[in-house]
Amino acid sequence: MTIPSVLFWFRKSLRIHDNLALRRAVEYAAEQRACLLPLYVMDMQWANPDKVGVVRMNFILESLQDLDANLQKHRAPPLLVLRGNPESVFSELFAAQKDGGQGRPSIKGLFYESDIEPRIRERDKRVAEQAQAANVHIESKHGHLLYDPDWLLDQCRYRGTPARHAPRTMSAFLALLKRVGEPDHPLLVKEVTEGLEELAQDNGAWRKALQSDTQPLTVPSLAELGYPEAPPSRLFKGGESTAFEKLDEFCRRGGGKTVRKFNKQETVASDFDPPQTSTLSPYLALGCLSPREFYYTVRHAQDKAAAEAPDDLAGQLYWREQYALLGYTVPNFDRMEGNELCRQILWDESPDLVAAWAAGKTGYPFLDACMRQLVTEGWMHHNARLVAACFLTRGDLWQSWEIGAAVFEKYLIDYDWSSNVGNWLWASCSAFYHDYHDVLSPKKEKWHGKSLLSTKDFIRKYVPELARYRDDRLNFPYSVPRRFQEEFGCVIGKDYPKPIVKHEEAYRRNRILMKRAFVRHTQKLTLIARSRASGER
Ligand code: FAD
Repeated sequence: MTIPSVLFWFRKSLRIHDNLALRRAVEYAAEQRACLLPLYVMDMQWANPDKVGVVRMNFILESLQDLDANLQKHRAPPLLVLRGNPESVFSELFAAQKDGGQGRPSIKGLFYESDIEPRIRERDKRVAEQAQAANVHIESKHGHLLYDPDWLLDQCRYRGTPARHAPRTMSAFLALLKRVGEPDHPLLVKEVTEGLEELAQDNGAWRKALQSDTQPLTVPSLAELGYPEAPPSRLFKGGESTAFEKLDEFCRRGGGKTVRKFNKQETVASDFDPPQTSTLSPYLALGCLSPREFYYTVRHAQDKAAAEAPDDLAGQLYWREQYALLGYTVPNFDRMEGNELCRQILWDESPDLVAAWAAGKTGYPFLDACMRQLVTEGWMHHNARLVAACFLTRGDLWQSWEIGAAVFEKYLIDYDWSSNVGNWLWASCSAFYHDYHDVLSPKKEKWHGKSLLSTKDFIRKYVPELARYRDDRLNFPYSVPRRFQEEFGCVIGKDYPKPIVKHEEAYRRNRILMKRAFVRHTQKLTLIARSRASGER
């Protein structure tokens, strides 16, 4: 007789430690005398070079391989990777169950980590309906954030604001955190895996039922997904194991001083060997590292931090948490239209300008280096992202932030829906940030007192065409006489582009347009407030 199964659907939380949903699945399987079947669904409509850059995909595949190895180390069956759209995959699994199982073990339950993104929540709702129709128990738990977002939103009841109203400024968010106290401590690996050994069963029956010649059940290779070859990524190897190594290394760097003295405002975008920040964002975004694990390890290491939250390292997570709460509650958060937070701006539409920006061919070397770092490494320092986002939107090209966010989605290994959108809204002055005169341009010399242009190694690495230019000309190669351009082996306009836009002119024009957008937004808010007030009377 085959033993029934409880399915654990890995999505983002590609880890064992501090995995609340996995802990719950293990408990439930023990209660039901079922075995645990870990699985991942690779949606082939999404997992292809048009949608996801090769560096990002490589990181995801490495993370899955590491998860598979770690599961087996804890005596769980190997991870089954099913190909297809999750709704169809589960519909097929549950339909077979209704038809008497067709030789497969029966399914007692489906467990997964919950999500805040509307598109995912809608899909999960449909999968849950299918499960209920097939009499399969379904349960989800949070795990992507420091706090359960539903619980945290329940604490956001202020006089005069509707319930579940997420704070819209960092100071209001910090006040909320002060009121609710620290997040819960992370679960240890042994707390998650306790009892797993007794549930571990060979998943041979499932393999036999699901495997076909065209459908292997192992982690796919890049080639199977249509990617040409593995990228030469220097900074990141995917997986929970590497996440722990990197966290440990960063906490010990400089004898612990780096974390203790960490002040985000003082870190420099162009320091890449090694970067000055933790570079743990890809592991947090995919859930190879739990945010609570990061938070408490760093809190312990930073002891009395030099900087105050959110500029200290642990406090950096508050940005992520705040954007997630907003994304969870504000309708159309990832769009301009219908998004009450977002200023309505009539952006231009120039695909050629966007293409030059995305390819790192704008003729502004620092910006181009940032964009090429994005494509080749899948990561950029926060200030580099700000420079890139500002240039595309309010700074120079006057293109919509939604287009920029889509490019970042494709290439960033740490792509995270609400963090990406929240930061684009911020950088483009569409929400949260108001000082539209303060443009972070690739010609700006200082940002928070640090030189943005001390970037010679950074530019030489990512824009090698300019490698032979003198240090003081690297940022302004077009100002070098033609004779020297030829001597340096890079003629501007031929081997490297001329600036695609005159920054000073664009800045003047865009400031006027921005001022108008601000006035319109204020008028709209006044009208809304008036009509609310008259409705209340
Ligand atoms: P550290 O300084 O070491 O910070 C530790 C962690 O705190 C990060 O790993 C990250 O999880 C979190 N964090 C820090 N700053 C922010 C922030 N401003 N917003 C949200 N979380 C933050 N971050 C993402 O994780 N995913 C994204 O898709 C993303 N898109 C962005 C788009 C734009 C236009 C901009 C300006 C920023 C974006 N960020 C995004 C935020 C930030 O740039 C990265 O989190 C940070 O650079 C990651 O590097 P790190 O891990 O070394 O950060």
